[in-house]
Amino acid sequence: MRILITNDDGIHGPGIELLARVALELAGEGGEVFVVAPDTERSGVSHAITLFRPLRLREVRPNWWACDGTPTDCVYLALNQMKLQVDLVLSGVNPGPNLGHDVLYSGTVAGALEGAHWGVPALAISHCSSRETELALLEPLLPDILRPLIEAAQKLGGALNVNLPPVTEGPYLGTVVTAIGHRYYSNEVHARNDPRGRLYYWIGGAEVTMPDVPGSDCNAIRDQWVSVTPLGDDLTRHGRLGDLAGHLGVAAPQAAATPSSPARDRVRRKPDVVSRN
Ligand code: MN
Repeated sequence: MRILITNDDGIHGPGIELLARVALELAGEGGEVFVVAPDTERSGVSHAITLFRPLRLREVRPNWWACDGTPTDCVYLALNQMKLQVDLVLSGVNPGPNLGHDVLYSGTVAGALEGAHWGVPALAISHCSSRETELALLEPLLPDILRPLIEAAQKLGGALNVNLPPVTEGPYLGTVVTAIGHRYYSNEVHARNDPRGRLYYWIGGAEVTMPDVPGSDCNAIRDQWVSVTPLGDDLTRHGRLGDLAGHLGVAAPQAAATPSSPARDRVRRKPDVVSRN
């Protein structure tokens, strides 16, 4: 198996080396692991793509490239410019959860979604603790946890969002399939003066509440289960299509009956495109 790794914490981030080692083990004999990751921290950039400045790739060691862009840029360039033929994209390991609507802000999740967008099955992997040193404790557990998830992703296509409970808070009870839950940060903003007396703001909502939602990713982590959620790039609120059409007095779209098909994901990969000037 050939595996592409990215993350949003940067190529020197705390979880990428161990993920590369685990990927090499999972890739099996003759397998290969490529790393294309942002050159610095890009947490919270979501699915941003860089369109109005050039991007550079720098090979920092064999099969490892640093890119001065976002996780989405990294995967985009790896697949469409470097033309790495890979069977799987792994994004992470993020030192912190990507639960509930974290997934909308997360660069880790976006890295996986970008892989899936180009037809490569992908996993975003997050450890639900900000204590970076604990990541090392995960390494021996990861191959057995990830193997069946990778098989599932390859069979079904698309992206899976994997969250691992804090490794120091007891053994994992197993893996459960979950839906995205709700995770709310406080709306705190720090307003301070810089050394030249100018005001700046720093978004700092640290306090988190997670309402009890059975079957959610948040509940799984609270109860020490590994959480896996299938993600798609369809943000349509399908259940609302009929209501909205009703309010506007127009017909509901046919698409309401046919949410996106995972089969599409596997045929999405485009043929090589000659670069345009
Ligand atoms: Mn991150």
